[in-house]
Amino acid sequence: MKIDIEAERKEILNRYKLLIKSYKRTLSKSDKELIRKAFDIAVEAHKEMRRKSGEPYIYHPIAVAQICVEEIGLGVTSIVCALLHDTVEDTDLTLEDIKGLFGEKVAKIIDGLTKISGVIDNSSQSIQAENFRKVLLTLSEDIRVILIKLADRLHNMRSLEHMKHEKQIKIASETLFLYAPLAHRFGLNAIKTELEDLGLKYTNPNEYNEIALKLKATEPERKKFISKFIEPLKEILAEQGFKFKIIGRPKSIFSIHNKIYTKHVAFEEIYDLFAIRIIIDTPLDQEKSDCWKVYSIITDFYHPSPERLRDWISSPKSNGYESLHTTVMGPEGKWVEVQIRTVRMDEIAENGFAAHWKYKDSGSNERQNNLESWLQRVREMLENPDPNALEFIDDFKLNLFSDEIFVFTPKGDMKQLPIGATALDFAFEIHTKVGEHCIGAKVNHKLVQLNYELKSGDQVEILTSNKQHPKEDWISYVITAKAKSKIKNSLKEQRKKIAEDGKEILERKFYKYKLDFTLQNVNDFCNYLRLPSSQELFYRAALENIDVKDIKAFIKSKETVHKGGVKKIVAPKIEQLVTNARGSSNMLVIGDDMQKLDYKLSPCCNPIPGDDVFGFVTVGEGIKIHRVNCPNAVKLLSNYAYRVVKAKWLNDHLISFLAGIKVTGTDELGLVNNLTKVISSELNVNMRSISFDTDGGLFEGTIMVYVHDTMHLKRLMENLKKVKGVNNVVRIDEK
Ligand code: MN
Repeated sequence: MKIDIEAERKEILNRYKLLIKSYKRTLSKSDKELIRKAFDIAVEAHKEMRRKSGEPYIYHPIAVAQICVEEIGLGVTSIVCALLHDTVEDTDLTLEDIKGLFGEKVAKIIDGLTKISGVIDNSSQSIQAENFRKVLLTLSEDIRVILIKLADRLHNMRSLEHMKHEKQIKIASETLFLYAPLAHRFGLNAIKTELEDLGLKYTNPNEYNEIALKLKATEPERKKFISKFIEPLKEILAEQGFKFKIIGRPKSIFSIHNKIYTKHVAFEEIYDLFAIRIIIDTPLDQEKSDCWKVYSIITDFYHPSPERLRDWISSPKSNGYESLHTTVMGPEGKWVEVQIRTVRMDEIAENGFAAHWKYKDSGSNERQNNLESWLQRVREMLENPDPNALEFIDDFKLNLFSDEIFVFTPKGDMKQLPIGATALDFAFEIHTKVGEHCIGAKVNHKLVQLNYELKSGDQVEILTSNKQHPKEDWISYVITAKAKSKIKNSLKEQRKKIAEDGKEILERKFYKYKLDFTLQNVNDFCNYLRLPSSQELFYRAALENIDVKDIKAFIKSKETVHKGGVKKIVAPKIEQLVTNARGSSNMLVIGDDMQKLDYKLSPCCNPIPGDDVFGFVTVGEGIKIHRVNCPNAVKLLSNYAYRVVKAKWLNDHLISFLAGIKVTGTDELGLVNNLTKVISSELNVNMRSISFDTDGGLFEGTIMVYVHDTMHLKRLMENLKKVKGVNNVVRIDEK
């Protein structure tokens, strides 16, 4: 390919001008100069570099800056940082250089961006949970680091097609695992949705394309329904003098996929699920009353479902989201979600908290405070890191995604907690000491247990006693990361004390059997019992859980080791596993060089030939094959990328695989008979089991069959769908 340097230089300048133009606020002369300086330095630093697509590298930082401006609403400092964000990592420029040229603040942000990139993007080896924590630590320094990183990731996802397949899967999994939830938490709805859709596109291309195609095909039908729904509303709203906009959009591909997957429903049942959004243009002081006026107009036309009213205007979510939601019975007997909000609220909902700054002087500080208090919670969590970083991530993600409830202290102070939070969570929210000594709670003046699940509006009073201390089962009583980590810390302290006693007990026992109480012996004994640490061993000794029999058997095993040279009991190394597994099977090929290795099909997703799969090297059970769309896949791929091996099916129709099918429909005469006829005679598949439930004329059946591959299964499902009375046929994972 010939490269026209002159044309490229022009294009780079064009893109730069576009960036400046998209910044809608006025730039002072010094701001303009600063951005230009950053641009010139970035161009110079990256001048020899190209992206995987062959384009000049500088296109990337410009695009990231553009996203920061247009889609997140960030200001001059962020533009400068976005332009420079890859310089320290990838070019000769140092942090010191940046500091000298742009000052402390910019250097700090660039440093944060470089560090994140170092721990996430370039780590094929590390467990990423620990890195995740490091990423979040940067939150407490400057939020812009995370926001620019999100813009960086968004642009990388948009240009992912040029990457190698494995890289695509790794990056896309991380995006689903980490960046989309973060975008959600910052209220960047548009970015979150795009990250999710792109993530799905690369981790699960088949299903992504299928849904995209079907959405396209059903678009006219959807449009017709929406216009039918909004026609009468438009008239009345105009009559009442509202300035408004109505939009109806289907759900995102990712969320449709999620529904299909988790609820086991077919596309046809949910493709018309969409929300109608009514956005009114109204002055700030009339926002609330006008939104409720619109609500009343809508519910005059369509009957609302009483339990589906959500008022995020009186109590905004902690990511700043404000809106009034209701679900009404529309034409053709369809439930339709209606969201009512103002232009200002809509902007915050779509573009996130950066949009707050724009409206900062416009009164309510509540949104700002909500985000601030959420960040405060994050910081607290990070100060007490759990050594088990993966668990920490789970807790944290739960908190990233969940919506809030609002509860009150006896004095009437409002506290925000995630949905599902318990009385004990509330106690820890008040204060660690209150949590640790909590013996019960009164909710709305009634005595409840520690694990009582709170609801919005509850008034909670915590009862404490100095004699109380956290118990093991408390961990299952709470859902907030804060309470969990506090309980675990306290339990750890307790265990440590108990283990100290246990050490003495064990020493006495060793002495009794003439076993030296040396570090070596203690460690060997630990390994022998397969315990994770000597502390755990001492702890068990204190609880009298270490049997004399164990010690005797251990002594015996030591003797055999000496005599016969039997191998020590240690967990096998991964490389060993792979080598040991070499050989036998011919259904799958695994690894970069596509060898035939031994494997097991993972029971969590039951892969069959034709499924997109990957291999996961387990400790102790060899290589397990998962479907790429296995519920555990994202977690495995993004946290243990280094233990993932490629796997591909060979064409082999000799072996059959077990797959589950769920059939639902109306209870017709002879239905079971007809279904089994399709299965056994028409397609010549073997059925392992079939079970049916009927209830009030409806049936639900689970059929387990042996098939050769996905094509085979698909054909079978198509034919089952044709049986009279059958409404829906879906594949299921578990029996
Ligand atoms: Mn970058």
